[in-house]
Amino acid sequence: MQPITNHMPTAELRALDAAHHMHPFTDAAALEKKGARVITRADGVRLWDSEGTEILDGMAGLWCVNIGYGRTELADAAARQMRELPYYNTFFQTTHVPAIALAARIAELAPGDLNHVFFAGSGSEANDTNLRMVRHYWAVKGKPEKTVFISRKNAYHGSSMGSASLGGMQAMHSQGGLPLPGIVHIDQPYWYGEGGDMTPAEFGLARARQLEEKILELGEDRVAAFIAEPIQGAGGVIIPPETYWPEIQRICDKYEILLVADEVICGFGRTGHWFGSQHFGIRPHIMTIAKGLSSGYQPIGGSVVCDEVAETLSHGEFYHGYTYSGHPVAAAVALENLRILEEEDILGHVNRVAAPHLAEAWASLADHPLVGEAVSVGLLGAVALTPDKATRAKFAAEPGTAGFVTRERCFANNLVMRHVGDRMVISPPLIITPGDIDLLVARARTALDEAHAILR
Ligand code: PLP
Repeated sequence: MQPITNHMPTAELRALDAAHHMHPFTDAAALEKKGARVITRADGVRLWDSEGTEILDGMAGLWCVNIGYGRTELADAAARQMRELPYYNTFFQTTHVPAIALAARIAELAPGDLNHVFFAGSGSEANDTNLRMVRHYWAVKGKPEKTVFISRKNAYHGSSMGSASLGGMQAMHSQGGLPLPGIVHIDQPYWYGEGGDMTPAEFGLARARQLEEKILELGEDRVAAFIAEPIQGAGGVIIPPETYWPEIQRICDKYEILLVADEVICGFGRTGHWFGSQHFGIRPHIMTIAKGLSSGYQPIGGSVVCDEVAETLSHGEFYHGYTYSGHPVAAAVALENLRILEEEDILGHVNRVAAPHLAEAWASLADHPLVGEAVSVGLLGAVALTPDKATRAKFAAEPGTAGFVTRERCFANNLVMRHVGDRMVISPPLIITPGDIDLLVARARTALDEAHAILR
């Protein structure tokens, strides 16, 4: 077989892709019709495809390339580590310097007494760790009946059996026999879509109090933890009303429920803080991290655990771990990524420059006839598409409707933006400049205009 390279004609690459590559989260029939877009290189906030088209990446890959593409320092860190110690595990009383250094650095950055890190290869694996770790924790504390996790509908916590069960995506639960037992879901704090006549403040409280109702229904002695993303990302960038998180915190404190904050998207500067929990003043017992930890340059995730939980687990063996827990190359790359985030004051850039600029430019889309709301926090944003602004009505829920059409128009205008139902979301690299934010918003407006013409 001839070598397969970037220089091959696109049609041939697509044919090989269709023949041999099974894609995650992809409609196979649609893929077969059109073929995949072949991405060949990237730099800063831009991608190039195999036909030479330049594309603005409004999603930082999958919400992960926080420092932007093309940072050769990370490639150098990987190469150095591969030469010195390409692999060793952290099982059975062994360790290595990259895992030690990264755990110590994360403990420094994490709020409160979140001082301990259990490494995984991804966010899904880290949430599976949380599920087992929390149940084991309660068993060690003499409360083995505390096993139930409460999560939320339309949450995303990963794709493995455990993490997809923790998630609240109906479509995912419809395949593979999910959710696993002992995981229940309450409603999400999505005021625009589900708030009806309530004010956002009333609605935020009402949705938070569903947690209390669920705990009382199940019995406090059966509930192990509540897990939630500070801002739901894959659910459509659902920014909860201000009343929501303080009430959730009060309820977790009152009933002795562990609070797990899934920071896989919100972490590492996305909201302008190191962690989304800090944006809302949440005090989690465990945080899930991945994505921005390495800016996606290497697959790595983890669970950041508070002193009390770690201390409880420190007297015996937790029969759990992944071959690549704390992988030295991934850890070295993550450390370099964290160095760049800090030394280049990328959070300062988000807070002083990019987020204020995006907030204003993004909000300007609210005047578009298709847009019911245009919201952002830090460098996470969403617009809700609606056929009727006054009633906040939804488009028909069939596939191929408003969100899909708009996403296709974004693609045609060389902007990567994602749709979740009828919400269009963005999560660009944190290093984006005001000029590129203006370009992103201009392309989004063009895509909305074109979608409006089609949907009218
Ligand atoms: N948790 C959240 C909030 C996520 O957004 C994701 C991925 O999008 C995950 C967990 C799963 O992470 P991974 O895809 O690395 O397994």
